[in-house]
Amino acid sequence: MFDTPVRAGGKPAKHWFDLEPAARIAAVSALGLPAYRARQVSNHVFGRYEYQPDQWSDLPLAARESLANLFPPLLTAAQELSADRGMTVKTAWRIAGDAVVESVLMRYPNRTTVCISSQAGCGMACPFCATGQGGLQRSLSTAEIVAQVADAAAKLAQGAVAGGPGQVNNVVFMGMGEPLANYAPVMAAVRELIRPKPDGFGISARGVTISTVGLVPRIAALAAEELPLTLAVSLHAPDDELRDELIPVNQRWKVGELLDAAWDYARVTKRRVSIEYALIRDINDQQARADLLARELKRRGDWTWAHVNLIPLNPTPGSKWTASRKRDQQTFIDRLERAGIPVTLRDTRGRNIDAACGQLAALQR
Ligand code: SF4
Repeated sequence: MFDTPVRAGGKPAKHWFDLEPAARIAAVSALGLPAYRARQVSNHVFGRYEYQPDQWSDLPLAARESLANLFPPLLTAAQELSADRGMTVKTAWRIAGDAVVESVLMRYPNRTTVCISSQAGCGMACPFCATGQGGLQRSLSTAEIVAQVADAAAKLAQGAVAGGPGQVNNVVFMGMGEPLANYAPVMAAVRELIRPKPDGFGISARGVTISTVGLVPRIAALAAEELPLTLAVSLHAPDDELRDELIPVNQRWKVGELLDAAWDYARVTKRRVSIEYALIRDINDQQARADLLARELKRRGDWTWAHVNLIPLNPTPGSKWTASRKRDQQTFIDRLERAGIPVTLRDTRGRNIDAACGQLAALQR
């Protein structure tokens, strides 16, 4: 339904991360190994972040060699950049089909967040976005999505990231791609991330954020999962006239339908929805749009169902899409606050390595 032509070929072979716990036992048995090996493997993978069979010295060599079939290569680091004294690390990964995706690890005083990609490229064609202009290369497999978090978890556990040993607390699907356009693999990855150890990474569902530009039926499907995930809606305009231009999928599902779906999501999950709004100079940062946004949110009920996350753009000289003036940004905040809407200004972590992390990472290019 949401698919667009795929350019790149080759998905990777099935990986442990693609399998549910029962399927792991079946896969181990199919290799002629006893079922209890599945638990041993998962202890290494999810308990100790050891993803290579040659690290599992308590298993016989022959078993490790067979099990290597269930651990094909997924991601190859093509480039790694760090900023904020090593507390932000962005990695470009080469994946099967010669596509490249990105993940970003961000350490804060009390938590660590990993921003991951769900697709290589994107089919949503937002005109301000370099990723969108390139189209969709292909959607990622469950294992390729999980592997981005697995890499971060291992680096943190080993103390390989500035700030000392740690763990992943939050995962945000705000890297490359539209997560809800790759629904089944994304949800399988989410279930693996939140499944308790030793069958999953044991990350709190409340720590997982799924972003979308507005695939309304898939927001309803997400609400029906009855998981307390955080939904982030990349709104960027409160009116159809402008949003039709900024986010082409708005021509299919209008602002009203999108906010109704977001409100339903908040009602069903009891989770406050994050309304993402990139402030673009003289495009969407007018006072009247702040007032309209506040009205649209408030008229759907108790204002606490949503909070607005404003994103300052990284100024790009010569581009039509550039940062709001400081005074316009402040007026926008003031108007929302005066209307009683909770509002935050997004941290611009990693800006100097183009790691604003989000649907909006693309805006920074
Ligand atoms: S802004 Fe996000 S949804 Fe739009 S084309 Fe870019 S990556 Fe896709």
